[in-house]
Order: sequence, then structure tokens, then C-alpha cells
Amino acid sequence: MADTETATEAVGEREQTDKSPEAVQEARSEAESKGGPKPGQRAEVSNLDIVRHYFEVACDHLGLADDLRVVFWAPYREVTVQIPVRLPDGKIHVYSGYRIQHNGARGPYKGGIRFHPEVNIDEVRALASLMTWKTAVAGVPFGGAKGGVNCPADQLDPADVQKIARSFMDKVEKILGPTRDIAAPDVNTNAQVMAWMMDEYGKLHGHTPAIVTGKPIALEGSYGREAATGRGCVYMFREAAPHLGLSPADTTFVVQGYGNVGSWAARIMQQLGAKMVGVSDATGAIRSDAGINANALYEHIHHGGKLIEFEGGEPLAPTDLVTIPCDVFIPAALGGMIHEENADDMRCKVILEGANSPTTPAADEILREKDVYIIPDVMANAGGVVVSYFEWVQNLQHFRWDEREVNDKLGTIMRRAYREVSARAREEGIDLREAAYLVGIERVVEAARTRGYV
Ligand code: NAD
Repeated sequence: MADTETATEAVGEREQTDKSPEAVQEARSEAESKGGPKPGQRAEVSNLDIVRHYFEVACDHLGLADDLRVVFWAPYREVTVQIPVRLPDGKIHVYSGYRIQHNGARGPYKGGIRFHPEVNIDEVRALASLMTWKTAVAGVPFGGAKGGVNCPADQLDPADVQKIARSFMDKVEKILGPTRDIAAPDVNTNAQVMAWMMDEYGKLHGHTPAIVTGKPIALEGSYGREAATGRGCVYMFREAAPHLGLSPADTTFVVQGYGNVGSWAARIMQQLGAKMVGVSDATGAIRSDAGINANALYEHIHHGGKLIEFEGGEPLAPTDLVTIPCDVFIPAALGGMIHEENADDMRCKVILEGANSPTTPAADEILREKDVYIIPDVMANAGGVVVSYFEWVQNLQHFRWDEREVNDKLGTIMRRAYREVSARAREEGIDLREAAYLVGIERVVEAARTRGYV
């Protein structure tokens, strides 16, 4: 109880231990002076810097006044909670949990929850802001939010992950709700984690499936949700391909990060006849010009095998993955992995951003000069939140759609978003990323104005 009260008091407050931008910059400069990012590592520029840059470029283009920029950049509400958990080493480990509600002008806050040691308040702020623009670009009636816990979930026993998931929900439940803020999976969280969170919320509020999306099918999850982000990426690529002189059946691709998004994108690309010539995850990377079987690799990992031990490819240094010649490179791991130090080495025609903020502004510039066509995160990976919207709608109605209906409706929304953004890009002579931000920001500003919020 005391913990819940602490969480409530923390509503609207900033993290006590949060570092100032100056301190963060100082730490970064120190890291840079020790050698800077190596190719393949994450860039020194933070996810927050990345999203802020693209936001500012779009605001400049729109001529948005400075006072309005402050409103639409700053998160509405930020909650930080302490999560102590006794681990098998007998010690209590204290993790930090965050839920940040960025903007709710267009509907209830919506966004995933990430369990990763590198989670920090700035990363969650960046991801929450991105959700605001993404839901607007996709045209689904949600605002933007994100959450995270800085725990190494992939190294922990499932029982300990469960303790963390339940403890996190206990401490943030007061600001969540099916009409207030709805969570979902992200890095290192999955349908099982969502089930634990829904169960914990239900202890306090009664059975409430619409509190989280990305749930198991057995617990009112939606057919098609698990594959949705990867499938949505492929829908976007299929829209773009004819304009780029590419045919999916003759396409070669590389995937960075073979988790939910990466493995589904790969399997669906393969269904269309495309060939995966390189792939990585946190354990390493492999390549094969003859093609790596995406389904067999998924089964291998699913049954406890390591990607690096998969027999259908040759090991290579993860830093070299970006140098593999291919038509489409799909970043589907963490932010900032395509940066100034490795962008020029890339040998692809298209970057299909499954991950959030994978490309730094400096890399974006280099790639534009190399004529690489980037389908940006803010539209490319919206498939997850679109089917989360479908899951929420189904939960509110207690009615289930079949998978074909889900996938067809997803396709309709993704194609519409691609056409709207690419038309804007053509009209204004700008790239897709800038056009997507313009569309997203305009819709959010209009909603906030119409409500009378600004
Ligand atoms: P996940 O945990 O299922 O998979 C992440 C994958 O990245 C894992 O295979 C992991 O091993 C790999 N990885 C981690 N560090 C790596 C490194 N340094 N090099 C190569 N691979 C590395 O997570 P996910 O849900 O697939 O999310 C992946 C990305 O997609 C994230 O950026 C996430 O924010 C974004 N995203 C996810 C969804 C969703 O619905 N799950 C929706 C939109 C965007």
C-alpha cells in the first residue's frame, strides 16, 4: 500500500536522480574521448536527441510557434517507481520503473513496456513521444506513452520477471486504465508478461482485459497481434517496392535483431519469396548469400538454440552486418544502431525501420546522400499499435475477430498511412520521415486545439 501511495505522489514529478542534459552530455563526451562508438554499437546520441531532432525539423517546417513546441514536446505526466526484488543470489536488487504519458489529445495514452538494463527516463520519454506521432500517422484514436524497467529480463528466471511485472503494475496502476492508458509489449516483454500485468490489474479492478494489449490468445488477446509489427513493416515495403523498382519475390534482406519484430518481418518477407542474407541478435550474427531459412531459424531459437549456432549460415562479426549487400536492411533491435560511424558502410537500397529510433540524424543525412530510401519507424512499425487498437476494440466489445479480418484491416491502415505520408513527401519535396512527422504533429495539434487544451 505504501508503495502505491508513493507512486501516486510521484505523478507529475520528474525522477529525483535524473541527470541534467549537461551531465548527460559530459558523460557522453567522456565516453567519446575514450574511443567513441564502434561500428555496430549503439551511437553516443540518445534516443531522446534523435526524436527531438526530427520533431524540431518538422516544427520548423510547419512554423509551429515556440510556446506550442514546448507543449507538444514535453510529456504530460511522468511516473518513476522503485522495484525491489530478491533474486536467486539472495540479494535484493532495486530496479527503476517508468511510465511516461506524453500526449493524450487524440485518445487514451498507449505504448509498450520495455524491460532492458539500458532503460532510463530519457529513453522512455523519447519512445513515448514517438508513440504520439505514430498513433496519429496511423490514424488510430490513441495518444502516446511508454514504460520500462531497467532490468536484464533476458538473463532472469521467468519467476523473477513475473515478480517485476506484477510489482511494476502495482505501482503504476493508478494512472492506467482502459480509457486512460493501455500498456503493450516491447523489448524483452511478451504476451506472458502482459498476462501477468492484466492479472495483477484485475486483482484491484476486476477482470479488465482492455488494460493491456499483446495478451495471449487464451486471455482475450487478438489473433494477429504477435506478428503485427513485422507484418505492418512488410505491408509498408510492398507499397514502396514498385516505386523503387523492387519486386518482393526477388528481394534480398538483412535483419538486425531476431526478436518479435525482426523474426516476423523475416518470415513474412520469406513468404513473399524474398531471401534473408544476414541476421543478428544480441548473441551474434550470421550470413549466407544462398539465403537463411527464416522459419528454421525461428524454430531453432524458439527451442533454446543460439542464433550464432544455427547451421544455415556462417558466423560474422555483428559490426559487419550492416556491410552486407542487400536490397532491404531491417533494423529490429535497439535505438541508435545506425549511426555516423557505420552509415557509410551500408550497402542496402532501403532501410525498413522495425525498431524505434534506429537511425541517428547524422546517419540519416549520410544515407540520404547515398540515395538510400528510409521507411521510418514512425510509420513502418506502427502495425503493432494498430493491432493493439483492434485488440482493445475487441476487448471492449468482448467480441473476437478472426485473423484474416485483423490482417486485412491492418493492411488497409498501413497502406493508407504510406500513401498519405508519401503523397505529402512528394508534394513538399521532403523525405518520408519529415513528411510523417508533419502529418503526425499536425493531427495532434489540431486535436489539442479542438479540445481547447491549447
Ligand atoms: P524483442 O525483445 O522481441 O527482440 C529484440 C531483439 O533484438 C532480440 O532478438 C535481441 O536479441 C536483439 N538485440 C538486442 N540487442 C542487440 C544488438 N546489440 N544487436 C543485435 N540484436 C540485438 O523486442 P521487439 O518487440 O521485437 O522490439 C524490437 C524493436 O522494435 C524495438 O526497438 C521496439 O521498440 C520496436 N517495436 C516493437 C513493437 C512490438 O510490437 N513489439 C512495436 C513497434 C516497435
